[in-house]
Amino acid sequence: MPGLSIDLGGQTALVTGASRGIGLAIARVLALCGADVIGVGTTISQNAETLAVDFEDLRGSFRPVDCDLSDRDAIAAMLAEIDANGAVINILVNNAGIIRRDEAASHSTDDWDAVMAVNLDAVFLLSRALGSKMLERGHGKIINIASVLSFQGGVLVPGYAAAKGAVAQLTRALANEWAGHGVNVNAIAPGYVATDNTSALRQDVTRSESLIARIPASRWGKTEEIAWPVAFLASDLAEFVHGAVLPVDGGWLAR
Ligand code: NAP
Repeated sequence: MPGLSIDLGGQTALVTGASRGIGLAIARVLALCGADVIGVGTTISQNAETLAVDFEDLRGSFRPVDCDLSDRDAIAAMLAEIDANGAVINILVNNAGIIRRDEAASHSTDDWDAVMAVNLDAVFLLSRALGSKMLERGHGKIINIASVLSFQGGVLVPGYAAAKGAVAQLTRALANEWAGHGVNVNAIAPGYVATDNTSALRQDVTRSESLIARIPASRWGKTEEIAWPVAFLASDLAEFVHGAVLPVDGGWLAR
């Protein structure tokens, strides 16, 4: 039986989009639980000194790695560097994401491609590369950060909603293949969380008030409130959880 606390000691986690927001909180919570974290961002190494303070006194360590996840060659180069360093990734958190707000009729192709590249393609490419190594070892955890817009169409974010819907389906598809081989693939579907990603929404007072009025918990979520369920899914406590897309949304989807 696993212990009563979440213990990720001896595990290495790769967390994408770890420079800020939900990804930074996930990286901190995983390190708090003992994991050594490789945090990926486009220019995350430039913030290394600031981030080091965030990880002081945690059980695990933090190493920032720059990679533009919209660039497939850059992903391949990062994976090669991880291999060359001999790092074994036990936990993959596909968190990096971007959003482009526009009406469908004027949503540009460039914005569509950018959203798909980071929010969906990179999730598949990293899961395939690191998941296949987990399969060889017969153990590993992949946690994708989906969205309540994996279940709903959203407003003025057609590319984002399409990509997040696909992330939920990819989660289930990978779980169907890999659950029998010791690899857990699950997703968290955050509701509305206070980060840079939602700053435009929060600055629009009318829209923000109407969103809060619709959230049973009557408030925006905090980044740590997404991070702890990720830590649970990354731990042996969640060994029998496969293909779940868990809403962490203050009750938004229950309404
Ligand atoms: P955020 O504050 O905007 O941070 C986004 C993170 O993704 C940053 O660390 C950023 O790195 C990274 N990133 C973006 N493009 C990248 C690229 N091309 N290559 C590498 N890294 C890239 O976002 P957030 O609100 O924390 O969202 C995190 C995840 O949760 C996303 O998948 C988002 O869709 C999802 N989500 C958020 C909410 C919410 O309410 N906030 C709700 C549902 C789902 P840089 O700093 O280097 O750019």
